[in-house]
Amino acid sequence: MGNYQFAVIRGDGIGPEIVEEGIAVLKKIGEKFGHTFSFTECLAGGAAIDATGHCLPEDTVAAAKAADAVILGAVGGPKWDNVPGNERPERALLGLREQLGLYANLRPAIIHQALSQASPIKQEIIGDSLDILIVRELTGGIYFGERGYREGKYGQEAYDTEAYSEMEVRRIAKKAFEAAMVRKKHLTSVDKANVLESSRLWRKTITQMAADYPEVTVDHLYVDNAAMQLVRDPKQFDVIVTSNMFGDILSDEASQITGSIGMLPSASLGEGSFGMYEPIHGSAPDIAGKGIANPIATILSMAMLLRYSLHLEQEACAIEEAVTQTLNAGFRTADIAAAGETALSTQEMGAKIREALS
Ligand code: NAD
Repeated sequence: MGNYQFAVIRGDGIGPEIVEEGIAVLKKIGEKFGHTFSFTECLAGGAAIDATGHCLPEDTVAAAKAADAVILGAVGGPKWDNVPGNERPERALLGLREQLGLYANLRPAIIHQALSQASPIKQEIIGDSLDILIVRELTGGIYFGERGYREGKYGQEAYDTEAYSEMEVRRIAKKAFEAAMVRKKHLTSVDKANVLESSRLWRKTITQMAADYPEVTVDHLYVDNAAMQLVRDPKQFDVIVTSNMFGDILSDEASQITGSIGMLPSASLGEGSFGMYEPIHGSAPDIAGKGIANPIATILSMAMLLRYSLHLEQEACAIEEAVTQTLNAGFRTADIAAAGETALSTQEMGAKIREALS
């Protein structure tokens, strides 16, 4: 039994609707297992621009730093399309990651047996389920490297730089090895070591670290091959670890293999147990306010929060099992309902999952 405190950023679009269901599930877990959870509401993204003129107010960063974890819905939307680049709602995400030191992004790509027909991949390849975890480096590499314009051989040119230190590779690889240890003990490191120097350091570091995890089978794939293997034979993967840009691309590819963006959670972690938890999807302005968004990605993000920040494995599994049970019982929101199936509202789906928890 414990007391835990969370910073809650509901955000924009469907953010407030789905976070409401995530919090309701956490409260149910609190009742069931005897924990006390408290929630501090904070602003970021478009809602923060409207209220304060800034996408990431200092109060929000301070509240996040003081919390055991951050719960985030999603930010952004057409209302803020004309806001200048560095004050756009989505900048709040980069700011939070940077200021909270969240360098590791964990994105599971899971297909539940009940939804295996939703995958665009042939049934004989996907089987009846899939469970891959992508561990993406989040605060280094080409997205943060030196960039600019210069005079080149053919006139003015633009450049971006991919740079990784051994320390940055080690700390992300440690998260990936640890994740593999509690899964199927298979780690695939993805790089472009046949071309890039930074990838050669990446591969050398992972190879050295493998000696500390003798139970984990480690293999290395070039990113182009990995992209192909993900659709050719996704079941060969357990945990994938990769750099910021490769992870950005591969995690979107993997999420599409599952066929349902409204189902996938994510965790962003730094040192220690602190983390930020959010669905992988955006603020879905096209369905905001209609009460039809799928809350499962957010609810499964709460399971990741319990697992990675609070180390409450039993409670995390209880949420995951309640989701599986609810899907197996045939309950669907509009995005995952097959033709002719009744679609539940966001609130109704949340209530069904809480029912399964009791
Ligand atoms: P999106 O993920 O918001 O929506 C893509 C499609 O998926 C839409 O048709 C939407 O209705 C549907 N969808 C998404 N989540 C769903 C859910 N839970 N249930 C049912 N359907 C769902 O992506 P987008 O339309 O490209 O972006 C919309 C806004 O969100 C943009 O402003 C973008 O910058 C922002 N965004 C924010 C985040 C974040 O906050 N982490 C991530 C991605 C995009």
